[in-house]
Amino acid sequence: MAQEDIFKKLVAHCKEYGYVFQSSEIYDGLGAVYDYGQNGVELKNNIKKYWWDSMVLLHENVVGIDSAIFMHPTIWKASGHVDAFNDPLIDNKDSKKRYRADVLIEEQLAKYEEKMDKEVAKAQKRFGDAFDEKQFRETNPRVLANQEKWNALHQRFSDALNASDLAELKKIIEDEEIVCPISGSRNWTDVRQFNLMFSTEMGSTADGALKIYLRPETAQGIFVNYLNVQKTGRMKIPFGIAQIGKAFRNEIVARQFIFRMREFEQMEMQFFVKPGTELEWFDLWRETRIKWHRALGFGDDNYRFHVHEKLAHYANAAVDVEYKFPFGFKEVEGIHSRTDFDLSQHQKYSGKKIQYFDPELGESYVPYVVETSIGVDRMFLQVVSASYCEEEVESNGKVDTRVVMKLPPVLAPVKLAVMPLVKKDGLPEKAREIIDDLKFDFNCQYDEKDSIGKRYRRQDAIGTPFCVTVDHQTLEDQTVTIRYRDTMEQDRVAISELKNIIADQVSFKKLFAKLK
Ligand code: ATP
Repeated sequence: MAQEDIFKKLVAHCKEYGYVFQSSEIYDGLGAVYDYGQNGVELKNNIKKYWWDSMVLLHENVVGIDSAIFMHPTIWKASGHVDAFNDPLIDNKDSKKRYRADVLIEEQLAKYEEKMDKEVAKAQKRFGDAFDEKQFRETNPRVLANQEKWNALHQRFSDALNASDLAELKKIIEDEEIVCPISGSRNWTDVRQFNLMFSTEMGSTADGALKIYLRPETAQGIFVNYLNVQKTGRMKIPFGIAQIGKAFRNEIVARQFIFRMREFEQMEMQFFVKPGTELEWFDLWRETRIKWHRALGFGDDNYRFHVHEKLAHYANAAVDVEYKFPFGFKEVEGIHSRTDFDLSQHQKYSGKKIQYFDPELGESYVPYVVETSIGVDRMFLQVVSASYCEEEVESNGKVDTRVVMKLPPVLAPVKLAVMPLVKKDGLPEKAREIIDDLKFDFNCQYDEKDSIGKRYRRQDAIGTPFCVTVDHQTLEDQTVTIRYRDTMEQDRVAISELKNIIADQVSFKKLFAKLK
């Protein structure tokens, strides 16, 4: 099945099984805003716990905060967001659709990559085991021609971005003959800058209301609390401050489901270091973060690093962690070395000294910062994309398709479903008894409707890793059938063993052990 079709199915599945709903759906929805349903919120909370604990529990020198969304408007002047938090946009005059000029060009680069990958895949099929991919890429004329086009475009694109040359971005779109996917035409407007911050007013107009912004990133809440945390926590450099919270961006192009939203959630950690050591810490956090992603077991080949074409004026290193979504490799997380830009700016605009007295050096300095910034919703999309699966299975001599969310058990919204084989003979009561015993440890679900086969499928679709069936034998010998989601194998086990079997599979501790 084409990746696009899989993605469509995934989106429909997320709705059907209570993961993600369009916001304000009964009013025809609100663009690029989504709500999380009964299963979505559990998965989201588990993702946040994985991130939070891996930062705050596992690092003695990382602490958390929860700062307000509303902040003094001067913060956004100091951070540069009022003047420079822009995206280059371009409109197609025929379809009246708006695009990000940089995204159109990135997609063109991805097309060249796809062409090369297709040649490689074809040759691989032809030559089998004897295939040497490296040699093929270095010698095949069609691959080389596309590589040359990619190199030239990449260079031109980087130069244009670095020079903020909007006319050149338009020229690239024209020269590459990029068409609007809706109208198919090349009738483009000029490229313009568009500020992404939402604003609102605080206070009554009679008092002179204050224009304030909905934060476009959570990081500034950390910077302006640097002194509070450092002093009250008696923190010594190097140390980090972590935060999870909502952020808002008036995205021009909001497509691809929860990949790009106007209201989303970020998990950010700012790590404060001695000037001059930031690149070492940058490398360390880059490795720490990729390990965190890989520990979930979605396949190491599905991740890559993307080094930024254009560094923000304050950054001296930046890299994205990209995951292979059904629509291609895309950013899930950014790791940035932000120098002392933010703290220095806040020092300047607030007039307050924001420095650290280093007892070893016997001097004060403005700390440098390495940031790790990941979107909760993009991480959610990574998890569900990696887990959604359609399988052919045999049941009662017939081949059937089962849809299963092979979520890492530790992240699954429901850990265990308990099902009485029939709705009588004391089996429902026994099933409830098991739930009552386990519900303080795991999120359990009781299910008695329909045949056992249908109930298994329902739990597969949600991603429940364990189903426990209570039958007549249970009443006699206190054993149940436990059925494993991924293998569909079943075991007969004592009720008293259930807790240990499940705990072992859904343990965060076990996951954290992979991060060492
Ligand atoms: P992009 O280039 O995709 O717009 P960005 O480079 O602007 O992303 P950052 O400002 O580095 O993103 O934000 C850090 C993280 O926040 C991103 O890696 C992503 O996971 C998440 N994020 C950013 N914008 C959005 C959005 N509109 N919707 C959902 N998540 C987002």
